[in-house]
Amino acid sequence: MSVLTIKDVTKLFPGGTKAVDSFSLEVADGELVCLLGPSGSGKSTLLRMVGGFETPTSGLIAIDGEDITRTPPEKRPTGMVFQSHALWTHMDVAKNLAFGLKLRRLPADEIKRRVEAVLELVGLGGYGSRRVTQLSGGQQQRVALARSLVLEPKILLLDEPFASLDQHLRERLREEVRDIQQRVGITTLFVTHGQDEALSMADRIVVMRDGRTEQIDRPDVVYRNPQTPFVAGFIGTMN
Ligand code: ADP
Ligand code: MG
Repeated sequence: MSVLTIKDVTKLFPGGTKAVDSFSLEVADGELVCLLGPSGSGKSTLLRMVGGFETPTSGLIAIDGEDITRTPPEKRPTGMVFQSHALWTHMDVAKNLAFGLKLRRLPADEIKRRVEAVLELVGLGGYGSRRVTQLSGGQQQRVALARSLVLEPKILLLDEPFASLDQHLRERLREEVRDIQQRVGITTLFVTHGQDEALSMADRIVVMRDGRTEQIDRPDVVYRNPQTPFVAGFIGTMN
């Protein structure tokens, strides 16, 4: 049974750019789907529409069968981690995480419990009182992930979360994120232009171009039988 339904979604920006073009996708419960494609292929726009930060020109987005196409972001069961994570640098780590829970008026002890549990989950147990600016880039990205997870969203949306990090850290973090995602069992859309990232993390890969799907398959199938120059060219460089 699919948790997320995207049906015939189109986004036309003023000026005439069709960023997303009649795009459809069903994502199953607990699945991690990578949206892979070159710069400008519509990945971020699609993700932002699922998160509620852009409104489709036409089409439908539903979560658990409920139409959320025009629901504001804070009323959706989605959590989004952006490329530039935009943490609040004047607050410590725990306050960054607690902020959204306070808006939901959760009791203080429940907030504390959830913040501590999520910090453990992302490998930052004991870091609650650190200032964000004292953390490394990788640690800050873990805080950004934790800030989304602490709200217990149904769907996690990650837009090139490791783009600003070096290669070694990216490889470590993608294994960590995959591990966390599987332990929590959270349905995830992961946007990347990194073929290696998609091939190593995804349950399924959607290769996008010009706002449309060029190929949708499991990573092993994409690897053995790439239908797009974008992926075939990359695999060529690996061999
Ligand atoms: P990707 O994330 O795959 O790099 P985007 O979704 O950011 O692609 O962009 C898809 C297309 O839509 C690009 O041509 C981009 O220039 C255009 N675009 C994205 N955001 C806007 C916007 N706010 N206004 C106008 N055009 C936009
Ligand atoms: Mg993008």
